[in-house]
Amino acid sequence: MPVYRLRDDRRSNSIGSRKGGWVVVTITPKTLDEALEFRSKERMIPFAGGTDLMVRRRSWSGTSPHFEYPVLFIGKLPELKKIAVAAEDNILAIGAGVSLTELLEHPEVPEILKQAIRVMASPAIRNLATLGGNICNSSPAADTLPPLTVLSATLVLQNTASRREVPVVEFIKGPGHNDLKTDELLTAIHIPVVKNNFYFYKKVGTRKADALSKVSFAGLAQTSDEIITEIKIAIGAVAPRVVSSVEAEAFLKGKPISDLPKLLPELKQMYEEYIRPIDDQRSSAAYRKEVSFRLMEHFITQLK
Ligand SMILES: Cc1cc2nc3c(=O)[nH]c(=O)nc-3n(C[C@H](O)[C@H](O)[C@H](O)COP(=O)(O)OP(=O)(O)OC[C@H]3O[C@@H](n4cnc5c(N)ncnc54)[C@H](O)[C@@H]3O)c2cc1C
Repeated sequence: MPVYRLRDDRRSNSIGSRKGGWVVVTITPKTLDEALEFRSKERMIPFAGGTDLMVRRRSWSGTSPHFEYPVLFIGKLPELKKIAVAAEDNILAIGAGVSLTELLEHPEVPEILKQAIRVMASPAIRNLATLGGNICNSSPAADTLPPLTVLSATLVLQNTASRREVPVVEFIKGPGHNDLKTDELLTAIHIPVVKNNFYFYKKVGTRKADALSKVSFAGLAQTSDEIITEIKIAIGAVAPRVVSSVEAEAFLKGKPISDLPKLLPELKQMYEEYIRPIDDQRSSAAYRKEVSFRLMEHFITQLK
């Protein structure tokens, strides 16, 4: 494994270790352009709040964490800390470096996303953890992914030369894998501003704080004259990626609310092939599947 050492031509400092261990090269750009420039030159590890990275890269021997590439600090870049509504296209733009606490405090952030954040980690972690970090960590249990999926969020990915926008459902490829290129950064999360008249979010974990999801469920709906005009369902931690089904949502659209309970068996059938949980230390596959369907039933039968 290569050990990176400090170079004179960088604005950088090192986190050493008195007991020896890895030398970590850290780079602290002042602007987004500078960060993208560094990223275009060689492979680097973007570091936002560090709450996933410091756990993943920890070293039990008390030595410094192991980063095989230079660490690019992006958590304080001003361009990534903004939240704004672009009135002309009705889009809420959230900088990737906005912390979970800052999201909770902002009036424009959709309530369903706030509900998910309130039951994530603990206040101290939420002060550091960023929305971009939760997305790019790409864990099947990442709690912001189901709400972002039902909110039809898109992700802005930038390198020095270009900028592309990808729906969150397409960005995640599997546990820990996503569509981010090695020269790109996630710079913003775009959420269409839509008036949904019903939303439901539930996280099932071992306890109320500092627990990863066994299952999480997000549902959004718009109704008019007792008819469903729009509906979105996303389930987290029950498959390698968030479970959502365009076919099932299309099946529900246009149906009277009063018909929903009797459509449930058919609906569950449609999700059956996508809900593929695993047995692990947090829960069993059978429990996760059962709870997913119970939450779906709750959402459908509570719709008004
Ligand atoms: C005690 C504890 C409890 C936790 N509880 C929960 C929980 O309940 N639910 C949950 O979902 N998570 C939980 N987490 C995980 C973590 O806090 C979140 O995933 C958090 O949002 C990660 O954000 P971060 O800024 O700290 O990411 P970082 O650790 O800085 O980065 C995570 C990954 O994303 C990449 N990255 C970060 N920002 C960008 C960017 N802008 N562009 C490109 N790549 C980027 C990094 O390179 C890294 O691979 C917990 C963690 C801890 C330590």
